[in-house]
Amino acid sequence: MFDKPRFVIRRQARLRGRERALTLDSLETAHKEDASVIVPSLTRRRRGGVTLTSATIRLVSCLALFLCIGEAASETYEDRRLRLVREIEIMARQLDDATGERGFDPRVTAAMAKVPRHLFVPKRYEARAYDNRPLPIGHGQTISQPYIVALMTDLLDLSPGRIVLEIGTGSGYQAAVLAELDVRVYTIEIVKPLADSAAARLKALGYDGVTVRWGDGYVGWAAHAPFDAIIVTAAAGHIPPPLIAQLKPGGRMVIPVGPRFMTQQLVLIEKDVTGRVRTKQLLPVAFVPLTRTR
Ligand code: SAH
Repeated sequence: MFDKPRFVIRRQARLRGRERALTLDSLETAHKEDASVIVPSLTRRRRGGVTLTSATIRLVSCLALFLCIGEAASETYEDRRLRLVREIEIMARQLDDATGERGFDPRVTAAMAKVPRHLFVPKRYEARAYDNRPLPIGHGQTISQPYIVALMTDLLDLSPGRIVLEIGTGSGYQAAVLAELDVRVYTIEIVKPLADSAAARLKALGYDGVTVRWGDGYVGWAAHAPFDAIIVTAAAGHIPPPLIAQLKPGGRMVIPVGPRFMTQQLVLIEKDVTGRVRTKQLLPVAFVPLTRTR
């Protein structure tokens, strides 16, 4: 089904409100999820001298639907991405007390505005790719909410040329956002079909600075260590010691820590130049679990 961006739904709700005002209780929303489907429950009603037949109601409904579809269709994916970036910038300002971030680095928002998220989700979710929410990517896994992707990227404080390790490649979207910051990305995915499809997708999109490996990220990637930054996009019960060991002095790591299938805490770990580690809990998040190979 064609999915509508939020402002279109709002507009539809307004239109629906207008129709309700005209016909009072004569209209029913047939399908709560789909604001565009409006069904008249009575064929004829008279209110304040206005006579509405079911044909009139149908005509008004069709016109409303036509206008809304027209409006949504005229909005390109790029427009939707920019609207999404504005949404996450607002969210960043609202949550700045918790995260300690005073808005996002413009390079991070530029990366979010550039990566085509609709190419990282299954076809049937493509129209929802620019909603600020996680989406299923198959194998019981999800692509993270864009705000969380931007936040975690921002927290790593990356400058060009840095070496980053990601645990949990998933769709490859987070890796692509990192790559837009001109850093070298090594990413590990434990589900083989996801690792394969993400590697193919990133290659097709020209993200040559990303290397994907199928494996258990708990143990890190010793061959490319130490890393300037490490990002874990699956929830761990504890911070994996091999990842702490593979973080460079002066480096940063972000990881959701907490019980599986419940709320976790997004944790920022900073290793100072002497190798001392400091952790800071930022905000509650919900990630799929970090699993282990047996
Ligand atoms: N960063 C991804 C979303 C991550 S969802 C994106 O942008 O799309 C979390 C991913 O972590 C899942 O794909 C899951 O299979 C993977 N994962 C879970 N445990 C893992 C482990 N031990 N090592 C590597 N990947 C793991």
